[in-house]
Amino acid sequence: RAADVSSPNRTKEIIRKHGFTLKKSLGQNFLTDANILRNIAGAAELDASKGALEIGPGIGALTQQLAKEAGIVVAIEIDQRLLPILEETLEPYPHASVVHGDVLKLDLHALWQERFSGCSKVSVVANLPYYVTTPIIMKLLEEKLPLEYIVVMIQREVAERMAAKPGGKEYGSLSIAVQYYCEPEMVAIVPPTVFIPQPNVDSAVIRLKRREEAPAHVEDETLFFEIVHACFAQRRKTLSNNLLAGVFAKAEKPAMETILAECGIDPTRRGETLSIAEYARLANAVLAYRR
Ligand code: SAM
Repeated sequence: RAADVSSPNRTKEIIRKHGFTLKKSLGQNFLTDANILRNIAGAAELDASKGALEIGPGIGALTQQLAKEAGIVVAIEIDQRLLPILEETLEPYPHASVVHGDVLKLDLHALWQERFSGCSKVSVVANLPYYVTTPIIMKLLEEKLPLEYIVVMIQREVAERMAAKPGGKEYGSLSIAVQYYCEPEMVAIVPPTVFIPQPNVDSAVIRLKRREEAPAHVEDETLFFEIVHACFAQRRKTLSNNLLAGVFAKAEKPAMETILAECGIDPTRRGETLSIAEYARLANAVLAYRR
């Protein structure tokens, strides 16, 4: 059985042997700490009946760990130069396979049907390329894939925004989008020293548990998110000013004031103080007004 790739020396050796050069533009920071790799995989609570989808396997350090725990592992990698390396590092794990492509362009529902139909549950587990963290997470959430967990290593600051509660400066439309679909939980803060090459920022492992039911009743999700975005468009502005800039026409000001009063929301508050339940109430009232 081939040795694990999860140490700084093995990682360097594999990179050297294949003449591989790391591409910063693809967010290639490889993890080289066996404990952290075990913690990431462990947070997904995998077993032989379950599947794991990895995004960006790199040279396969996390993929190997996932393959030790899950029944099926599928890893999507954009960089063709990594395919021969992965063939080698995953050789002992026939239930782990690689799909060459851009996760943002692939049809993930089709991939689910093809690869995971025999699994009781599937989680996404990944050390994400930081330049596309948010679009990847939003795709996974908005496409409503049948996920158990999303366990990802991302920039610490982005993880803190995902988990933020109303009232603080980290709380924003990303917090609301993530928490509308999932319950977030910080798993670990990770220093730059465990990566090759080291990123410029601290990282964090966050676990998002897919909710069975939304935390508030929303009649029109598109409108709900449109209103959330509008209310954070200018963070220093009041709710009513942001709503007048993005949701209501100037002439609708009296109607907007009535709606806010009906919802029990003070128009001088700022977007960052409203809970998901309050945004839901507001969106449902705007929908009723427009009908
Ligand atoms: N999983 C490995 C590890 O932990 O060492 C590598 C993680 S590295 C931070 C991110 C990986 O994602 C790289 O291998 C990169 O080539 C790949 N990647 C970047 N953009 C991608 C995309 N749009 N779709 C799929 N993979 C991508």
